[in-house]
Amino acid sequence: MIDLLDRLSAHRSLSQDEWEALIPCADPLFWEEARCRALSVRDEVYGRNVFLRGLIEFTSFCRNDCYYCGLRRSSRSAERYRLGLGEIVDACRSGYEAGFRSFVLQGGEDPFFTDERMVPIVAAIRKAFPDAAITLSIGERSRESYKALREAGADRYLLRHETADEAHYRILHPQPMSLSERIGCLRTLKDLGYQTGAGMMIGSPGSSAHTLAEDMLLIAELQPEMVGIGPFIPHHDTPFSAERQGSVELTLRMLSLVRLLDPHVLLPATTALGTADADGLIKGLDAGANVIMPNLTPSPVRSKYLIYDGKKISGDEAAENLAMISAKLAAHGYRASTTRGDYIAY
Ligand code: SAH
Repeated sequence: MIDLLDRLSAHRSLSQDEWEALIPCADPLFWEEARCRALSVRDEVYGRNVFLRGLIEFTSFCRNDCYYCGLRRSSRSAERYRLGLGEIVDACRSGYEAGFRSFVLQGGEDPFFTDERMVPIVAAIRKAFPDAAITLSIGERSRESYKALREAGADRYLLRHETADEAHYRILHPQPMSLSERIGCLRTLKDLGYQTGAGMMIGSPGSSAHTLAEDMLLIAELQPEMVGIGPFIPHHDTPFSAERQGSVELTLRMLSLVRLLDPHVLLPATTALGTADADGLIKGLDAGANVIMPNLTPSPVRSKYLIYDGKKISGDEAAENLAMISAKLAAHGYRASTTRGDYIAY
């Protein structure tokens, strides 16, 4: 197995069969070696800097019906809210004053936020905070829409592919969603010059070493600047309510492998990881991650953006605890960076 790690480090890719052999490896020493190598390549590129993104979850409405997500259209218990332009800019301002220079606007696919409404929001943030990066995570839209948002000032876009396996994609999403549409959107985003984020849940129903191998092949081919990886966590009001939570250990291993595949990748220690494990943030960084996304969503609605049960919204996950987060990072040898945290190209 170590020879596969050597090959990965040297060539930055493996075949489907090789990934499929490596991912289920049961030898803890092998994974410790992979983790150490991931850390050393990360430190070479980014040092011990951890980039901060202030996350603003601005709408809990969604037209999609993804089987895993608590905000799916059919969820009756989901509390729906939307923030207006002023509230979003205010949230950015409080983050800016605390030192954030990177904002992520995330939401369900809410038809209310047409380009006519979304473009002015992006433009207002761009104007108010010219030195901050703007990331959108609002699902699948047309090329024209992505283009208009890019021109309004958006720099980055997060759109996890969720799984690169057709059959698995179908287990997770009802019609008319499709993997080819999703990947088409990712290619369009890259083409328009967005720093683009793909990614997948770990341990979602139907996943396997085979589907994870396909994820790694897609990532190797697409070369996204960011990869979001977190464990699947069931939500009580979804068809997957009785499914098992994804493994924290496997999530950490996949983080290390993605770091080895692209030493330059922007890799968050996700909220799902922090929810599944009280030490998820530090464990994620110690597996090769270099980004954290504290929550800047205003408190009256923050508890309503429930994509899975038990989602952490306080402590390490809360932007208002930035001083505490920075101290925790420092205690583990990391430095909270208040730069935009762009992808460093080769
Ligand atoms: N509507 C946007 C944002 C989705 S929420 C979009 O389509 O991109 C961001 C991510 O949360 C999703 O891409 C998914 O990977 C993750 N997620 C959703 N439900 C989850 C669950 N039950 N457990 C873990 N992660 C989940």
